[in-house]
Amino acid sequence: MSQNFDKNRDRDSLNTPWVGRFAPSPSGPLHLGSLVAALASFFIAKQRGGQWLLRIEDLDPPRVVEGADQSILQSLEDFGLEWDGPVVYQSHNFARYQTRLMELMEKSIVYGCDCSRKQVEERTGGSYDGYCKERGLLSVSGDKSIAYRVDFSDGKHQFNDQVQGLCEFSSPSDCHDFIIKRKDGLYAYQLAVVCDDIEQGVNHVVRGYDILDSTPRQNFLYQCFAQAEPIYFHIPLVKNDMGIKFSKSAGSQAIESNKASELLVTALGHLGQKTEAAMLTAKPRELIAHFVKHWQTENLPSNLNR
Ligand code: GLU
Repeated sequence: MSQNFDKNRDRDSLNTPWVGRFAPSPSGPLHLGSLVAALASFFIAKQRGGQWLLRIEDLDPPRVVEGADQSILQSLEDFGLEWDGPVVYQSHNFARYQTRLMELMEKSIVYGCDCSRKQVEERTGGSYDGYCKERGLLSVSGDKSIAYRVDFSDGKHQFNDQVQGLCEFSSPSDCHDFIIKRKDGLYAYQLAVVCDDIEQGVNHVVRGYDILDSTPRQNFLYQCFAQAEPIYFHIPLVKNDMGIKFSKSAGSQAIESNKASELLVTALGHLGQKTEAAMLTAKPRELIAHFVKHWQTENLPSNLNR
């Protein structure tokens, strides 16, 4: 990935109202890594007088932890982060995903697949391999997975990430076919996130570096739906002392509201912002108000702990 690109190319020049979002999965309470993503997306939107939307990504029922959505909302409030508009739940948007899926099916850019997860894993060790690409299995009956056909025959895919620089994907080893609806009927993250971001008017996406590889897939879907791709900011991941990224699956500790100011200062430090010892005794809302004014996107480190 090259770092040579024009960092000034962003939506400012288009004079578009800035709409950002935070999109946590309710698989557990917020941890330091998700706080970092929440703060970066909040300040990047707010510094331009934009909106910051909140979407709970509860697509996958087995991964949803009861009460985690409420705990996330409570933490955001306790940390002084106020979202705009109603909280959106992906589980309420299945009709939207189905409509978009039908659009893709009409374009024959997708194909049916009857492989089980186990079969794919046995063949490839994990990543999807497009085994059913030419098997003509697409049907509306809903008993198969539906995969998107990635095609690089017209050339490489590029986008200018505002933190990571120019990102290029040019072969199936960079980005291969991907499932957009699962055999068990669940819509995949790649499809849902694009449908919702389009519907909610999100024009810039701030999230962890670990999702960067999903971005070409999402951009292909934007192109199919004839919609402008958002501007992306993929921010560095926070890792623990063992070098493991903070995540709910790694059992990372929940952020505690009684340590809100301390955690905000730590998180802002990870984001390259100038913090001071005196901030530790400030109220969370005061800290947030301070950084709405003093946030510096250009200070985001690009490859910390990659
Ligand atoms: N729901 C995803 C997560 O919690 C974030 C998706 C995104 O920001 O695009 O990791």
